[in-house]
Amino acid sequence: MEEGARSCLLQSRSSLEQDIRASYLMDHMISDGVLTGDEEDRIRSKPTRKEQAAALLELLLRKDNHAYISFYNALVRESYGDLASLLHNSLPLVSPEAEKSFSDGGTRYVQAVLSEGGVPQRPVVFVSRPALMNRVREKLYHLQKEPGWVTVFGMAGSGKSVLAAEAVRDHALITECFPGGVHWLSVGQLDRSDLLVRIQSLCFRLEQQSQEKDPSSSLHRPPGSLEEAKERLRFLMLRRYPRSLLILDDIWDSSVLKAFDIQCRVLLTTRDRSLADCVSGSKSEVAVESGLEEDQALEILALYVNGKPQRLPEQARSIVRECKGSPLVVSLIGALLREFPDRWAYYLHTLQQKKFKRIRKSSSYDYDALDQAMAASIQVLSEEHRERYIDLTVLEKDVKVPAKVLSVLWDLEPEEVEDVLQDFVNKSLLFRDCHHRPYLYYLHDLQLDFLAEMNRSGLESLHTKVVRQYQQRYSQGPPTSGDEECLYWFRFLTYHMAKELCSLMFSLDWVRTKAQIMGPAHLINDYVEYGAILDKEVRGQFQEFLSLNGHQLEQRPFPDVVQLALSQPDSSEVYRQALLQAQERATRG
Ligand code: ADP
Repeated sequence: MEEGARSCLLQSRSSLEQDIRASYLMDHMISDGVLTGDEEDRIRSKPTRKEQAAALLELLLRKDNHAYISFYNALVRESYGDLASLLHNSLPLVSPEAEKSFSDGGTRYVQAVLSEGGVPQRPVVFVSRPALMNRVREKLYHLQKEPGWVTVFGMAGSGKSVLAAEAVRDHALITECFPGGVHWLSVGQLDRSDLLVRIQSLCFRLEQQSQEKDPSSSLHRPPGSLEEAKERLRFLMLRRYPRSLLILDDIWDSSVLKAFDIQCRVLLTTRDRSLADCVSGSKSEVAVESGLEEDQALEILALYVNGKPQRLPEQARSIVRECKGSPLVVSLIGALLREFPDRWAYYLHTLQQKKFKRIRKSSSYDYDALDQAMAASIQVLSEEHRERYIDLTVLEKDVKVPAKVLSVLWDLEPEEVEDVLQDFVNKSLLFRDCHHRPYLYYLHDLQLDFLAEMNRSGLESLHTKVVRQYQQRYSQGPPTSGDEECLYWFRFLTYHMAKELCSLMFSLDWVRTKAQIMGPAHLINDYVEYGAILDKEVRGQFQEFLSLNGHQLEQRPFPDVVQLALSQPDSSEVYRQALLQAQERATRG
């Protein structure tokens, strides 16, 4: 029964209980087919008129819109006109027109099924992705006849959960494939005890709903172990909710998925494509692209600021380009712009500077900032794989590499490298271009930015590592095969070497030692001579430090460089390294 009708019944309950004679009304309701003979008997068995009335109302509250209408008509026919008028304003519409009247395309029935199953509503600002949604629906239709799994996978913030909720917002799909309902469970990263609690509450929800429909079924005590919970869920899905769909949102771990391997129909969202390998039954999958089309992303921004996409300032396109249309980031920025509509340039700049922490805004979904979402993805890698993943920081933006390049960096066989990369690809942390053989791998820009931000202090030494590893592998001379790997070295070895030079010249230790032995003039000369290769901003910071402190660095005894460097502006790389060293000294005592 729809919400408004149920609420009206609850509000009018005591007046109705006072006055109605259930036995008169029930005849009408039986002939309308909304009440069974058994139900009538149970109500008649109550000793007093008032108790019978209360029992009828209790039963009615668990029924659908038709029962409400039948009850209303019965009141009118039995001359309870004043009571009928209490219910009149909330009479539900059940005509086909009314069924289609929802702005999100769902019907009242769909809305009732989804809200009962805990499926999240559409985000307030929403754009549809019809091709993607049709792909998910098509896979769901395969579950019409038999149980199985549909995996929706993609990187953090690509819109998987929104898509899963949207895919089931469809009258025909629910009535034809999942008449038993759609049940949503948010999973996320869990340990075994958390998982037990989640399944307990799912079982409780399912049992409670089934008891409302059939009061003779009883509520059980919560299952005490994961095994028991799995069996309880199996029983519920098989007996009470046949042909229903379970949506498991944001699954990270195959052991979690195994708890749901109970021969039912499951739609799961995950970043890890291979997760369903560990469970039995038919499986299919849909990949969610990480970014929206440009016009869809602009539409989101326009909706947030209540404007038209064509009227957005020029920075809007740059924002979309900068984050490659990531729905999460576009929505986060849109939400910020709603509050500060003049800040287009500022947020574009923030995004370009990779200051993700400032693009923080609570969202209706799990992650309130991209950095958290990415960090969570990386956390679940094994320690060894995590280190290797961080090594990918060394790649240039928009460059695709074959596994052999990384086999030089990690000194592993290409097959072993493929295995490591497969893990990243499965977790949507890395992308694979399958149009080339051997495959080429690349990171999403946002992932690379995130890695660079996370690994700021280690980046230069990573370039050194690349150069060393290359020199070791090709000590006899450069590769000549002309394959993708060979081409990589010819294009990027110089880049890594230039970065290596940065790593040397932007090191406070190097500055200290060289100044002590050769004097500051030599150092300043280096920055000028190799200026074109070095990062302009950081070079400026080192030059400034040297020109301000040159006279001190001539002195003997030689001054404490860390102390001198600590008086640099705190945005300076010189200051950052000095601070680290000072902290290290403090911990060493
Ligand atoms: P995922 O499950 O892939 O991590 P979500 O589905 O939770 O991603 O989406 C992340 C955020 O992106 C949502 O909170 C929402 O703000 C935004 N978003 C995703 N899809 C859409 C869409 N179709 N229209 C508008 N915003 C969307």
